[in-house]
Amino acid sequence: MATLEIRDLHVSVGAGTDGSKEILRGVNLTVKAGETHAIMGPNGSGKSTLAYAIAGHPKYTVTGGTVTLDGEDVLEMSVDERARAGLFLAMQYPVEVPGVSVSNFLRSAITAVRGEAPKLRDFSKEMKAAMDALSIDPAFAQRSLNEGFSGGEKKRHEILQLELLKPKIAVLDETDSGLDVDALKVVSEGVNRFSAQGETGVLLITHYTRILRYVKPDFVHVFAGGKIVAEGGPELADVLENEGYEKYVKAGA
Ligand code: ADP
Ligand code: MG
Ligand code: MG
Repeated sequence: MATLEIRDLHVSVGAGTDGSKEILRGVNLTVKAGETHAIMGPNGSGKSTLAYAIAGHPKYTVTGGTVTLDGEDVLEMSVDERARAGLFLAMQYPVEVPGVSVSNFLRSAITAVRGEAPKLRDFSKEMKAAMDALSIDPAFAQRSLNEGFSGGEKKRHEILQLELLKPKIAVLDETDSGLDVDALKVVSEGVNRFSAQGETGVLLITHYTRILRYVKPDFVHVFAGGKIVAEGGPELADVLENEGYEKYVKAGA
C-alpha cells in the first residue's frame, strides 16, 4: 500500500542562503493510500509551501528532513519523476494556456506519468469514460486550458486529472476562498470517490473548514508557524470551525 512519509521537513523560500527565510520548521506527516488527511491552518502558516516542496517547485529549498514515497527518496526526484512515482499536486492557481485544449493537456499529462503516449483512440475512450463517471459535459474536453474556467470547471479539471492519472498520493491545495458551492461539491465528491476506492491517499490543504462539511477526513492536522501543532480526527475540524486558529497560532510561534 502506498505511503508518503514526511520526516522533520525544513523548507526555505528564496534563492540563496542569505535573504531566504525558513518557512517549514520540522513537519512530520504520514499519508497512506485510502486515507484522507486535512491540513488546516491560518494564512501564511506554510501550507502551500508544504505542497510545493512535495511537488519539487524550484523556489522552495529543502534544508532538512526527508520525504519518501514507498521508501523512495522523493526529494532526489525531478518533478517528472515525482509524477511518474505517483504523486499528484493540484495547484492553487492553475495557469491559463490558450490554444491548448483540456484533451491535449490530459494526454500530455498521461504521457508524462506513464512514460509513453497512449494511442489516440485508447486515450479518447479513457477520457470519455472518466468524463462520464464524473458527469462532465463532453464539450469540456475541447475547451482551452483554464481559459475562462469557472471555479467549478477548474475543480472538475482537477478531479478529471485524478481520475485519469490515478496517483498514489494526491495533494490538493484548496484556498476555498474562490470556491463556490458547485466547486466545493466537485472537489468533495472527487475526494470522497478516490478515498472510497482505497488506492489514493489524499492530502487536502485548506484554510476554511467549509469543505469539511462535504469531505470527512480521517485525520485533521492543524498547521501554524510552519509545522503541525495539533492533530486529531474529523471532530477537530468542528472545533476549529467554532474556535478558530488563534490558540494554535500561539502554539506555533
Ligand atoms: P499558506 O498556504 O499557509 O497561506 P504559504 O506557504 O503560501 O502559506 O506561505 C508561508 C509563508 O511563506 C508566507 O509568509 C509567505 O509570504 C512566504 N512565502 C511563500 N512562498 C513564497 C515565495 N515564493 N517567495 C517569498 N515568500 C514566500
Ligand atoms: Mg496557501
Ligand atoms: Mg477513506
